[in-house]
Amino acid sequence: MTAASPRQGLRRTYGSYGGRFVAETLHAALDELENAFLDVVPTPAFQATLGKLLATYVGRPTPLFRAERLEKALDPNATVLARLYLKREDLAHTGAHKINNALAQVLLAKHMGKTRIIAETGAGQHGVATATACALLGLPCEIFMGEEDVARQAPNVGRMRLLGAKVHPVSSGSRTLKDAMNEALRDWVTNVATTHYCVGSAAGPHPYPELVARFQAVVGEESRAQLHAETGALPDAALACVGGGSNAIGLFRGFMQDASVALYGVEAAGEGIDTARHAATLNRGRAGVLHGAKSYVLCDAGGQIQEAHSVSAGLDYPGVGPEHAHLRDSKRATYLTATDAEALAETRRVARTEGLIVALETAHAFAKIGEVAEREAKLRGRAVTIVMCCSGRGDKDLETTLAALRAVEGE
Ligand SMILES: *Cc1c(COP(=O)(O)O)cnc(C)c1O
Repeated sequence: MTAASPRQGLRRTYGSYGGRFVAETLHAALDELENAFLDVVPTPAFQATLGKLLATYVGRPTPLFRAERLEKALDPNATVLARLYLKREDLAHTGAHKINNALAQVLLAKHMGKTRIIAETGAGQHGVATATACALLGLPCEIFMGEEDVARQAPNVGRMRLLGAKVHPVSSGSRTLKDAMNEALRDWVTNVATTHYCVGSAAGPHPYPELVARFQAVVGEESRAQLHAETGALPDAALACVGGGSNAIGLFRGFMQDASVALYGVEAAGEGIDTARHAATLNRGRAGVLHGAKSYVLCDAGGQIQEAHSVSAGLDYPGVGPEHAHLRDSKRATYLTATDAEALAETRRVARTEGLIVALETAHAFAKIGEVAEREAKLRGRAVTIVMCCSGRGDKDLETTLAALRAVEGE
């Protein structure tokens, strides 16, 4: 062989979505990141280091738990409608799936010789995960977070600061996740030589959506193996909440090739998808460019990005990862919605039925288990098995949840 054939890069587009729409100054850094992923991540040394940290530090594999009391609650007539398995990402270190991606990216950045890490955060879970990974690996960390989120996620701001990260409150726009991501991108343009931008979801410019999906695929791969060990079969449906889409795509990657497995995402309907206050990008948005990639976005008739709303800061985002846009259009996955009120009620129901205080984000997925079970059981004419990503624990939301439940019910 004489001419070296160009090697296969990471997947760049999903149908007509994805790609890279960023300032010229960032192209070299994004190429460098893609090349580092391809060169470094497959090596036995990187795999051994990451594997050991996932096992001994993060606590992987996370358990797969059968939620039998929720199963019974699904069906008042006591005929089993569904077997329900929860992938317990809430038990991962820092309390959510975010650490899988943050730790892997910071480890990769260190291999690349980067000396500074920046990240955006909404609920603060990705900020905490990134600050944690930076503390563990000895790198300075700066987090961009909307002022509104700084106020409603105070415990996570405290955690980030205790972990040694510098938190920059962002006062532009709606002062939430979208604006934090803009600010992080702006910082990166200026400091790109020394800095790695640790993106927190399967969104953003190429190669981030694919890179994050690969680092979160551990969720789906473990679920598949654990479920097989338990039932000897595949599930009938996989279910997860969708903000940017990383926990959902991580779970879906375990079952994407299996046509018999129905994939369900749940978006935040906020005060209702027919109001102006929701974050149901795939249900109510349209194709557009946000944060460096083409996907569905919430925008007005003039193409102006709209403010999103959700009671859960982690779902309060007017965009979504491009792979979900493609899965929606191709109908490989179905995207349902749950309102703030449904998520809040579900948080209490899950706490009292299974003893799990879950994140408000996660509660959106729980709220649609019944609908998924009914649809799939009807379609297949038998009881079905559902695997759901229990993406995170709810300590961070306790104040919001209790105040909201008090307001509705005078509890
Ligand atoms: C951040 C977060 C989400 C939403 O982000 P995805 O990228 O869509 O997974 C969901 N659940 C929890 C617990 C989170 O912290």
